[in-house]
Amino acid sequence: MNKAIYPGSFDPITYGHLDIIDRCSKIYDKLIVGVIKDSNNKKFLFDEFERKEMIESVLNKFQNVEVKIFDSLLIDFAVQENVKIIVRGLRALSDFEYEFQMALMNRKLNDEISTIFMMPHEKYIHISSSLIKEVISLGGNVKDYAPELIINNVKNKI
Ligand code: ADP
Repeated sequence: MNKAIYPGSFDPITYGHLDIIDRCSKIYDKLIVGVIKDSNNKKFLFDEFERKEMIESVLNKFQNVEVKIFDSLLIDFAVQENVKIIVRGLRALSDFEYEFQMALMNRKLNDEISTIFMMPHEKYIHISSSLIKEVISLGGNVKDYAPELIINNVKNKI
């Protein structure tokens, strides 16, 4: 089976993430959305269970997508799941340097596993979970960028 992992924080999931999931679900037999439990660099608004549950609640139309929490090196998670492809989204040029470093480091750690980059529809190229949280916290309307349920969850949490 042709499987891939799409890892990230998803704090919370946006239409940009869903665009990438949609594209991957058409290419791969199975896609695992990997929700990272903790990060040294980021403080999350939602815990890993809330983030997973929110993704699942907006994934109804995808039959071949599963959401899993992981708490290890991404490469170890991929080996554990028997997956050889990691998918990352590329938005603006600003993503490139970080993603480039991560992809090469992951390849150094395990050359059997490759990172593939995908670009979302251009209407989502400028959005991130952080930007969405910031705009919601200031009372702005982001209905074009995240599902209503997610927006309501962010409002309640804030
Ligand atoms: P991370 O902390 O791992 O970057 P994110 O949840 O911010 O986690 O992003 C997960 C993946 O989704 C990353 O590859 C990121 O580049 C991508 N991504 C985030 N927002 C978008 C978007 N608007 N369009 C396409 N890809 C996106």
